[in-house]
Amino acid sequence: ENISAFAFLDRTAEEKPDNIALIFKNVRLNYAELRRRAEVLAHSLRARGVRRGDRVAIMLPNLPQTIVAYFAVLKAGAVAMMVNPLSMEHELRHQIPDAQCKTIIVLDLLWPKIAALWEQLGLETAVVTSIPDALGFPLNWLARFKLWREKRSVTVPYDGVRVLRYKDLLRGNERYSEKSILPHSDLALLQYTGGTTGVSKGCMISHANLVANVTQIRAILHAVGVKPEVFLGILPYFHVYGLTVCLNFPISVGATLAPLARFDPKEVLGEVNRLKPTIFPGAPSLYLALMQQKDFARTDWSSLRYCVSGSAPMPVELLRRFKEITGAEIVEGYGLTEASPVTHLNPLGGRRKEGSIGLPFPDTEARVVDMVGGGPEPLLPGKEGELILRGPQVMKGYWNRADETASTLRNGWLYTGDIAVMDEEGYFFIVDRKKDMILTGGYNVYPREIDEVLYEHPKIKEAVAVGIPHRTRGEVIKAFVVLKEGEELARHEVLAWCRQKLAAYKVPREVEFRAELPKTLVGKVLRRALREEEMKKEG
Ligand code: ATP
Repeated sequence: ENISAFAFLDRTAEEKPDNIALIFKNVRLNYAELRRRAEVLAHSLRARGVRRGDRVAIMLPNLPQTIVAYFAVLKAGAVAMMVNPLSMEHELRHQIPDAQCKTIIVLDLLWPKIAALWEQLGLETAVVTSIPDALGFPLNWLARFKLWREKRSVTVPYDGVRVLRYKDLLRGNERYSEKSILPHSDLALLQYTGGTTGVSKGCMISHANLVANVTQIRAILHAVGVKPEVFLGILPYFHVYGLTVCLNFPISVGATLAPLARFDPKEVLGEVNRLKPTIFPGAPSLYLALMQQKDFARTDWSSLRYCVSGSAPMPVELLRRFKEITGAEIVEGYGLTEASPVTHLNPLGGRRKEGSIGLPFPDTEARVVDMVGGGPEPLLPGKEGELILRGPQVMKGYWNRADETASTLRNGWLYTGDIAVMDEEGYFFIVDRKKDMILTGGYNVYPREIDEVLYEHPKIKEAVAVGIPHRTRGEVIKAFVVLKEGEELARHEVLAWCRQKLAAYKVPREVEFRAELPKTLVGKVLRRALREEEMKKEG
């Protein structure tokens, strides 16, 4: 369909203006009002020089303003660059200048971080917002206190810094909604990815890409007759998984969004009881954290039809336990930023296979090709190789990185860097990431297989296997293990468990017990961080 991504909001606002678009604390906003705010903010941004194609950074947790700002940026004809609010300094110093952003919309609490780096970032304008702004009118003393604190924290560090208040930009009635300036193929998002495995690159995602992915999701849900009414906004909107699945999609069907600014498992269970979601998208570590809660089994899961897990492998053991308790199945899917992001899902209506990422989305072609030769001729079913993809949701390329674009987008196919297998019935299974493969004593080992075995142990809460460089063996395998609360386990017991279930060369040499594992905000275990720690130790 030849529409732009802000049409998700516009259409719903026209068809269902009174539907509640947002619930945040005790505030409710309907679709007409959400659109009004986005258009007023778009006008203010235009009035301050933002033009078609400019990149505008949005550095906010999940808040109502995040949604308003995102649509405002699109309506202004600009490109949204969603920035992780917990970005490290070096990531900001890389991404913001790389994208040549001139404007940032940022939470007051994060402003000092940006202000301190101001001269290195190349920004010209900052729009600062605070949590009380979300509430419209600060009524209680707490909100007033926060406002007062905000005023104090928004200091201007250098000459030439233009600091504006979000609240002020929302004043007035002038609205900007110049639909005609936006061809379908314009960029909508510049989305940085790759931090888990290397230097991060900006994926150029067009309006057409976002619209395609939402249309695909809608088609799948429509086919099984599920009408989502309430969407918990737990997955971060600054990641494209959360943005597409928990923002663009629900807005396009007129559902109610309940953004949660931080992930607090207790609060999430409370929201499940209060809001009764039908679909609950998440990621493995998110479900795991919920399952650890005392109240997990006592939560009212009766409204729940489907959970959808993506972004990292979901240990089969967790899938089973989750279903036992809630009665709802977690359906695994797959995607990557380069594909806006979803490309695979286990069929909601049809047969689902455990441990599989399911079938390709409508209009999406997927193949498993030779890992070195590169395809695009497919390998036979059952053979391991690299997963490649083609479809309307695949990005245009990496921003200013012709070489990386050329090696990732080849002959119209997206090379994912993931190792996969397709079975006879066309179901796909992710084996591992190419980059995570461990080379030990001449063998290739996929760490994910070891992780799965460790997860099956009744005393283990989380585990991850990593290849550590070794002088003679290439790499040796080390397992990092987090135990369930109150449990004890010795190294030799972990090894004995692995020996029972794994070929000898896959059994870890080393085991380290940890209180937790380093993760990204969408809950991916940072294997690379663990590996680097080990390499530092080695000197
Ligand atoms: P970063 O998260 O640091 O930006 P990333 O490389 O993880 O970098 P994403 O686009 O967030 O980039 O994630 C895509 C990757 O996540 C896929 O290439 C794949 O390795 C992994 N992934 C996604 N879904 C699944 C799944 N269901 N099972 C296994 N792996 C998955």
